[in-house]
Order: sequence, then structure tokens, then C-alpha cells
Amino acid sequence: FAINMTQLQLEEELGRGNYGTVKKVLHKPTKVYMAMKEIRLELDDAKLNGIIMELDILHRAAAPEIVDFYGAFFIESCVYYCMEYMDAGSLDKLEQDGIPEPVLGRIVGSMVRGLKFLKDDMQIIHRDVKPTNVLVNKKGEVKLCDFGVSGQLERSLAKTNIGCQSYMAPERIKGESQNNLGTYTVSSDVWSLGLSVIEMALGHYPYPPETYANVFAQLTAIVHGDPPELPEEGYSDEAKDFVARCLHRVPEMRATYAELLDHPFLVRDRTLEVDMVGWVAKAVESRDTRQRKQIEEAKHLQSLSD
Ligand code: ATP
Ligand code: MG
Repeated sequence: FAINMTQLQLEEELGRGNYGTVKKVLHKPTKVYMAMKEIRLELDDAKLNGIIMELDILHRAAAPEIVDFYGAFFIESCVYYCMEYMDAGSLDKLEQDGIPEPVLGRIVGSMVRGLKFLKDDMQIIHRDVKPTNVLVNKKGEVKLCDFGVSGQLERSLAKTNIGCQSYMAPERIKGESQNNLGTYTVSSDVWSLGLSVIEMALGHYPYPPETYANVFAQLTAIVHGDPPELPEEGYSDEAKDFVARCLHRVPEMRATYAELLDHPFLVRDRTLEVDMVGWVAKAVESRDTRQRKQIEEAKHLQSLSD
């Protein structure tokens, strides 16, 4: 079946990214809650139709580690994209107390299986691996979203802003500065995976902007500096070796997904019992408390200035 706007009842906003807004919606015919992403694109109808057609292959990207795709349509110059609603949100907002190793192992296992499925079964390279694109639900499931399936959409978004939080591999940052977009291989995603693992352990982006004079200095550190490592305390040698296998400056030296799945860190994860449901509940509560405090502080500051 094809989804259209008249079937959807808009609920609250779930978040905003660089390219659009994500809202919770109720699909009235099926009573299913969905997440709807709105992307504004100044393109003609033929191009927008091309994007909708390219997105259609997402219907075949069904796996436990991939967010379900329900359909896409366009109205005027906006593409709307409906996917599975993940009721605990993205990992960037759940990681801020630092994720302990057993939970991290579970998350990383799902990410590697999801990435391997995309690559082997769909011939898709993700291209945007980072904690905001790893979603979690209260059942404790971990799923990937926002991978590059539409060439037209990628080109139209013109991901030129390398931004102040870059998950791009060194070879991509170099390629970008040489305007060379053709160098993307699956190993670039492995770098982004490694960086995401460190971020989830630390609770913040591993190259904090405030420690660099400017974005250029920060990107130079990514390209030429020693790759970051897991914190000394609290993580096993297996976990540390796992990230080191991802964060090699030379792309050919990075592990493949098959190698990562056979790595002791993930092999051990499969023998452990991990209370993901309990961790998600705690992380969501901590996030909501933090957000409530931020709102109260903002209100307080507003009242002072009034
Ligand atoms: P960027 O624009 O750099 O890719 P982003 O991934 O944060 O950043 P979006 O993909 O637009 O931007 O998503 C915005 C936010 O919406 C996410 O950070 C996430 O918290 C929330 N979100 C996205 N998809 C879903 C979903 N399916 N279920 C629940 N929340 C979601
Ligand atoms: Mg996203």
C-alpha cells in the first residue's frame, strides 16, 4: 500500500537534523505510530519522483537491525519519508552518562550485523554511521537508519558541510578537500563505526570542538593525529582492540564486518546476558530529566531578562 499525508495524524516533533525535521505521526488506517522525516528540496517533480522511486528499494531492506521503511511521498518541494517509530530515540541522547561495556557490546553487535546486512544483501554502503542514526526502542532493540539509498537524494542534500562533528574517515576528509567524492568504500563506514563506539563510551564526541582553535585544526587532528581510544578504565582489552581495528588511518588496514563479528569483543557479547530493557529505561529517564532541567533553566533565564 502507498502512504499519503491524508492518512497521517501529526503528533509531536521528535528531532531536527541538518536537512529536515522528524515528527511522530499516527497512520490512521492501520493505527501504527510512525516517524515521518520531512526534507525540503528545491527540485522539479521529475527529480522528486525519481527520489521516491529510488527509496522504494528500502521496502526490501528488512532486517532486525534496520529501521522498517513504510513509504515515501512528496508534496510541493518536500519529500516525506515514513519509517518505524523508535520510542527511545537516538543513541546520541542516551549515551551521555557513558555506556558501560556489556551494553556497548550489544549495541555494537547490532550495528555490525546491520551494516553487514546492508552491504552483503543490499549492496548498500551506509555513508552516515553516527550515534544520531542508531535508534533504540524500549524493547531494547537497536536499529540503523538514514543510510544512502538514493543517489539523487544524496546529491541534492549536497553534504558539503563537514560540520564540527565529523564522523568521516580521514581519506574522505582528504578526498572532500580535493573535491573527490568517488573514494567512498565500505571501510570508511568502519571508521565511523569505531568513532561512534568511542563516543558512546565517553558520552561525547571524541574530538571535542572546544579543544581545537578551529574546524581546520580539528579536521587536521582526525586526518594526521593518532586515532582516539577507549577510556583506560572501565573497558576490556578486547573492547579496546576492537575499536583499534576500526580506527586505522589506512582504510585497507581496517577490519571487515566479518572480522569484526568474529572479534573476541563480539564473540563474548553473544555469550553474555545483558539487560537492555533495563538500561534503555534508565537512559531514557536520565535524558528526560536532563531535558526538563534545560527547559526550566531556559525559563528561569527568560524570567530574569523580562
Ligand atoms: P543529521 O541531519 O546530521 O543526519 P540527525 O540524524 O540527528 O542529524 P535527523 O535524521 O533529521 O537528523 O533526525 C533528527 C532526530 O530525530 C534524530 O536525532 C532522532 O533523535 C530523531 N529520530 C529520527 N528518526 C527517528 C525514528 N524513526 N524514531 C524516533 N526518533 C527518530
Ligand atoms: Mg538521522
